[in-house]
Amino acid sequence: MRDVESLPLLLRQLALPTMQALWEELATKAMDKGQHPAQYLKMLCEHELADRHSRRLARHMRESRLPVCKSIESFDFGAVPALNKTQIMGLASGDVWIENGRNLLIFGPSGVGKTHLAAGIGEKLIEAGYRVLFVRTTELVQKLQAAKSELTLPAALDKLDKYHCLILDDFGYVKKNGPETSLLFELISERYEHRSIVITCNQPFQQWDQIFEDKHMAIAAVDRLIHHGTILELSAESYRKREAEARLQKEAKKRRGRPTKT
Ligand code: ADP
Ligand code: MG
Repeated sequence: MRDVESLPLLLRQLALPTMQALWEELATKAMDKGQHPAQYLKMLCEHELADRHSRRLARHMRESRLPVCKSIESFDFGAVPALNKTQIMGLASGDVWIENGRNLLIFGPSGVGKTHLAAGIGEKLIEAGYRVLFVRTTELVQKLQAAKSELTLPAALDKLDKYHCLILDDFGYVKKNGPETSLLFELISERYEHRSIVITCNQPFQQWDQIFEDKHMAIAAVDRLIHHGTILELSAESYRKREAEARLQKEAKKRRGRPTKT
């Protein structure tokens, strides 16, 4: 192959790293097989696109800050009979609810799998091509507060806007504090009917006036969140507690099985 010394540089300038890595090897193969140049070019493009897709997925997975190992696959639906697996898989695929900026609210006491379920849905949404951010609500509110003090709140809200889905974990841990909770309200209003929010919360709506400044703000927040939203109630016994009990029982059984010293 003559007069192609500058090809790697051209491909780099065009930001085509996979083509840059593969063009030579695939060219040799194409010549051996007597392929038409158009077929060779098509193959190179397909490789570039496939790699671009997996690079984007990896980037979106990293930026999402999802907790590790909390996938839908590892979620035991048998432990929460009230949940409809088909409905959850539908939500995890995104489509209508994400396209329309609708919300998902997951309620239940501690340890029943709210965070796990939200993270599992988030992971599937990323695989379906959406951008997701998982945050503890208190942490996000503090960041927004800091942005407000630095007069960069609009930029901070804009940055959040690029995420199709924002998972606010432990929403109920935010404590009533004038400026902070009004920022949370601002965020909810900003995303209303435009970008989705997933909330995990162990406080029912009736107690949301402990989160928001006053009853009116709490009602307005609930109104925006549940308008076309989906509510899931996980009321099973704590999975954490059940696992710990099963472990203790296993250990006790093991001890009982051991021969006693005489
Ligand atoms: P919550 O957010 O409701 O307090 P978590 O999602 O943190 O509960 O769940 C507590 C622990 O139990 C986590 O390690 C989680 O992975 C596990 N867990 C809870 N429910 C399930 C489930 N149905 N299947 C598998 N693991 C579960
Ligand atoms: Mg949780």
